[in-house]
Amino acid sequence: MANQDSDKDFPKQQQSLPGSQQAQHPSPEVLPREYPDGKLAGKVAIVTGADSGIGQAVAILFAKEGADVVVSYLCEDEDAQVTKKHIESYNRRCLLVASDLSQEANCQQLIDKTIAEFGAIDILVNNAGRQVEQQTLADISTEQLDKTIHTNFYPHFWLSKYALPYMKVGSSIINTTSITAYRGSDHLMDYASTKGAILSFTRALSNNLMSNDKGIRVNGVAPGPIWTPLIVASFKPDEIEEFGKNSPMGRAGQPNEVAPAYLYLASDDASYVTGQVIHVNGGEIVGG
Ligand code: NAD
Ligand code: MG
Repeated sequence: MANQDSDKDFPKQQQSLPGSQQAQHPSPEVLPREYPDGKLAGKVAIVTGADSGIGQAVAILFAKEGADVVVSYLCEDEDAQVTKKHIESYNRRCLLVASDLSQEANCQQLIDKTIAEFGAIDILVNNAGRQVEQQTLADISTEQLDKTIHTNFYPHFWLSKYALPYMKVGSSIINTTSITAYRGSDHLMDYASTKGAILSFTRALSNNLMSNDKGIRVNGVAPGPIWTPLIVASFKPDEIEEFGKNSPMGRAGQPNEVAPAYLYLASDDASYVTGQVIHVNGGEIVGG
């Protein structure tokens, strides 16, 4: 972690109000950090679901900021090739890995392939996910429930578990939760539940890594309605026409409006931030 002097002890001192910073010691660090080669220069990032949508925007932005990126996705080779092209246009390296992360062995393999190719993991973005709309609880089969949990939650757990032994102080894990974790979603009950699990996992792992002094930060991003293939693949055509219109801003967001939140959390700019969630949702105020 680009360390501030904040872990130093502060010597006893006293001033009268309003106080002089010149006389304060140590002096508070106020100058912006400089990143001449990009905010993620020399880092290796894994981004799941990076063929398209939010993950793709994150992967490309990370490359623009100097990271080599492992692009994990289910099977959308053509979309993934586009991500790779953009990453390479920034002279960064890209490894494409197509696999089903709902299988534990594939999660382990993604980590192994990353280490074989790049020898390090500095940033893990757990972002892959799926959703299937159903009108009532009775419509959600156990098969669907299993698939939603296996796709949306288990890989967060497995990938973090297998990546952690390679992650050094200053590394960062970022999980994609959702506005649905905070306010539910009447037609996405199983999906919303997995996003709640991701939120709690983010907080718990953050606590765990802090108490174990690992110096690895764990945070989340909770997007609202964002225009991605997941939307057109899971909502009905007339719902698509209305998509995002009930957000306070009256529109859906674009993936490149969400990606900077991940960049902030991944970079040393967020060195004092862990266990938190950034809400990128067009202005809806949600609790927690
Ligand atoms: P997207 O379709 O572009 O990305 C999801 C990706 O997940 C897919 O491209 C796919 O490759 C990957 N994936 C799905 N199942 C997988 C599996 N079994 N194994 C490996 N990879 C798998 O859609 P997106 O909207 O960018 O979704 C990214 C994340 O953002 C998801 O977790 C989603 O729940 C979350 N999210 C999206 C919205 C939104 O409105 N689009 C809102 C809140 C949260
Ligand atoms: Mg896709």
